Amino acid sequence: MRYFHAVRLDQERCTGCTNCIKHCPTEAIRVQSGKAYIIEERCVDCGVCIRVCPNHAKFAHTDSLSALENYTYNVALPAPALFGQFSELSDPKQVLDALITLGFDAVFEVPRAADLISQAMRDFIKTAGAGS
Ligand code: SF4
Ligand code: SF4
Repeated sequence: MRYFHAVRLDQERCTGCTNCIKHCPTEAIRVQSGKAYIIEERCVDCGVCIRVCPNHAKFAHTDSLSALENYTYNVALPAPALFGQFSELSDPKQVLDALITLGFDAVFEVPRAADLISQAMRDFIKTAGAGS
């Protein structure tokens, strides 16, 4: 499986201090040969390591909108904080519609996406349990 994580490391800035390891909620970080690296399968892109790195060695990678053309189906998962950026917003749906207009194929608010994942996990556990 290929992962596309937003959180990246600037190797030049990393001193291997291990501060990010102590704060990562999923224990996704290791330090090897004096540099941090992220275990892709464990990272949930929460951004905590960006916030706690004293050397600004972690950063969030961003793409331009033209990157949407590289994929056949693009899903936007706007965080609740996005809606707070628009003081004149009368209905959150305006933001969701705007993302579709920009080129996304589907849009789910993060809490809704979390619900779907939770349901899928419950179904998976039930199915796995039935098979054992
Ligand atoms: S906190 Fe920053 S400098 Fe320290 S190991 Fe992590 S990425 Fe490197
Ligand atoms: S983004 Fe979050 S989960 Fe991923 S390595 Fe950093 S602290 Fe850990």
